[in-house]
Amino acid sequence: MDLNSDYVKKALKDKGYKFTNQRSEIYNIFLEHEDSHLSTEEVFEYVSRVNPDIGIATVYRTLQLFEELNVLYKISFDDGVARYEIKSSSSEHRHHHLICLDCGKVIEVKLDLLDSLEDEIESEESFKIVDHNLKFYGYCKECYTK
Ligand SMILES: [Zn+2]
Ligand SMILES: [Zn+2]
Ligand SMILES: [Zn+2]
Repeated sequence: MDLNSDYVKKALKDKGYKFTNQRSEIYNIFLEHEDSHLSTEEVFEYVSRVNPDIGIATVYRTLQLFEELNVLYKISFDDGVARYEIKSSSSEHRHHHLICLDCGKVIEVKLDLLDSLEDEIESEESFKIVDHNLKFYGYCKECYTK
């Protein structure tokens, strides 16, 4: 996956928003932490190091805007904290998450693997699938072998 700012730029422009420096700085945090699930506070902490003038309210609003524009996904795990992760294109489906019930670790499954199921649902149910949200609960290797 070749991540850059093109997708966010286009998504903003299409809806009449500007790609401001602050929006760019916030988005860059996600490019730098591609595999992370970042809370608003974490994004604020990272972006503060780059630009100390950005307030947490701006971060909060920007994350909401990015989610609205389908640039970020919102996700929450068992701690109930809203987290965000990057989405690199409009056609890309969401990856899956494996959640360890013991240590709480979140493992990413990058492959979609649902293509044949999606095809079947689309033809059987006459339903156009654009995405899905799948979490698997269980025990990671460190936890189930101890
Ligand atoms: Zn899919
Ligand atoms: Zn574990
Ligand atoms: Zn993820």
